[in-house]
Amino acid sequence: MKLKNSNLLKNQSYINGEWVNAHSGDTFDVSNPFDNSLLASVSDCGQQETREAIEAAGKAFKVWKNYSANQRSKLLRKWYDLQLENIDDLATILTYEQGKPFEEAKGEIVYGASFVEWFSEEARRIYGDVIPGHESDKRIIILKQPIGVVAAITPWNFPNSMITRKVAPALAVGCTVVLKPAKLTPLSANALVVLAEEAGIPKGVINVIHGKKASVIGKELTENPIVKKLSFTGSTAVGKLLMAQCADTVKKLSLELGGNAPFIVFNDADIDKAVQGAIASKFRNAGQTCVCSNRLFVQSEIYDEFNEKLREELAKLKLGNGMESGVSIGPLIDENAVEFVEGLVEEAVDNGAKVVCGGKRLEGNSGIYYPTILSDVNIDMRVFNEEIFGPIAPVFKFETEEEVIEKANDTPFGLASYFYGNNNSQIWRVAEALEYGIVGINTGMISTTVAPFGGIKESGFGREGSKYGVDDYVEIKYLCMEV
Ligand code: ADP
Repeated sequence: MKLKNSNLLKNQSYINGEWVNAHSGDTFDVSNPFDNSLLASVSDCGQQETREAIEAAGKAFKVWKNYSANQRSKLLRKWYDLQLENIDDLATILTYEQGKPFEEAKGEIVYGASFVEWFSEEARRIYGDVIPGHESDKRIIILKQPIGVVAAITPWNFPNSMITRKVAPALAVGCTVVLKPAKLTPLSANALVVLAEEAGIPKGVINVIHGKKASVIGKELTENPIVKKLSFTGSTAVGKLLMAQCADTVKKLSLELGGNAPFIVFNDADIDKAVQGAIASKFRNAGQTCVCSNRLFVQSEIYDEFNEKLREELAKLKLGNGMESGVSIGPLIDENAVEFVEGLVEEAVDNGAKVVCGGKRLEGNSGIYYPTILSDVNIDMRVFNEEIFGPIAPVFKFETEEEVIEKANDTPFGLASYFYGNNNSQIWRVAEALEYGIVGINTGMISTTVAPFGGIKESGFGREGSKYGVDDYVEIKYLCMEV
C-alpha cells in the first residue's frame, strides 16, 4: 500500500495518548478482502487493556469537560481539516482493508469528516433553557452536561464514518471515548486517531482498543461503571446482548442495528430514476450497508420493465479490485459473507425464484459476487426476512398500496425505507404509514450529516448526525432556585 503519509499506518492500540501493544504481545492479522494479502498484524488486546483505556478516558474527562465549547470546536475543526488534507491516504487504507472502490472510499471519508465539521459547529450550541417557574418565587434553568466516558463499538462496513459520527458529537459536548473498531478494519480507525493527535486533541480523550475477542472487550466496556454510555453500530443480535449487559450499570445506549429496507416502486414512478435509486441504495458497498434496499417491491404494471432496465444497468457495472479505476463492485468482506449470500440465493431458487442476472461468484475472484436480481420471490423466502448484506436484489411484485405497506412493515426492523411515485396524496400516505426511522422519497441516497440517522423497532434507537445528534451524549439537569 503506497501512502503519502506512511505515519497514518499504525498497528497498535491507543491508550492515554500512547500507541501500545497487547500486554500478552499477541497480535491478529488484517488482510485485504480482494486478494487476502496480509496488511498488518494488530495488537490483540483484552480486558486489562480495555480497563486501562477506560481509566484513561475517565481521567481525561475531568479535564476535557472543562474546555470551553470554543476550544473543543477549534480542535474538532482542525481534525476535520486534517482528514480532508489526507483524504487519498485515508481512502487507500479503507479500500485495502474493506474492499470498497476507491472513489466510494473517498466518498466515505468526505461523509465521515462532515460529522466532525458539523459537530465542531454544534459544540458551540449546546443550549439549555429557562422555564417559567411553577411558583412566583421559583426559577427553573435547564443545563445540558456531557454524560461522561462513552464506549463506541463500530462495524467494518464503514470503517471511517461510523467512528466519526459517534466520536465527534461525544467530543463536541465534552465526553471522552473508548473506541472498539471491528477487527476486520482496524487501520482506518488508527489513521483517524493519528490525525486527532496531530490536531491537538489531548491524550486520553480518544482511546482505541483493538482485539479479536470482541466479547471480552465488550464485557468490560459494558460492565465497567466508569463508562456511562455505549453507542453501538452492528448486528441486532449483538446489540441485544450489549443492551442486556448494560442493564446492571444502567448505561445510556444508542443502538444502530440491522435493517430490512423496502424499496417500493409504484406504477406512476419515473422508472429510470427508480432504477438509478435502486442501484445506489442496493449495490453501494456491494450491498453491505444497513440502509441498503433489502426487498424491492415493484407494482405489477411495470414489474417486467423495471427488472429489464435494472438488469441492463447492472450489466454496465465493473467488478474487481477497488483500487482499479472504474470499478464499482468490490469483494464482499470475507468468505463467510460470500457463503451467506450464496445460501440466500440457493434457498430462494430452490423455492421457485428466478435468477434474472448474476447468481454466482466472479470467475477468477471468489470474493466477488455478481450483482444479482431475483424475480418470482415470495415472503416466505429468507431474502424477505433476513438482512442480505450483499449484492442481491429480490424483486417482489405487488398490486395495491395497502398490500405493499403491509408487506413493507412486516419485519421487526425499522431503519431505512424508500419509495418512488408521483401522486402527492399517495406520497404523504405512504411516508406516514411506513414504520421506519428514515424514508427516501424518489431518492435512493438518504445519508447526510444534516439529518437524524437512526431506526425504530429492532433497528435500535438514538439518532446520529443533525442537531439531534448531540442529545445522545448529554444529560439534562434542571436547577430549581427559590429567589
Ligand atoms: P457485523 O455483522 O457488522 O460484523 P457485529 O455486530 O458482529 O456485526 O459487529 C459489530 C461490532 O461489534 C464489531 O466491532 C464487533 O467486533 C463487535 N462485537 C461483536 N460481538 C461483540 C460482543 N459480544 N461484545 C462487544 N462487541 C461485539
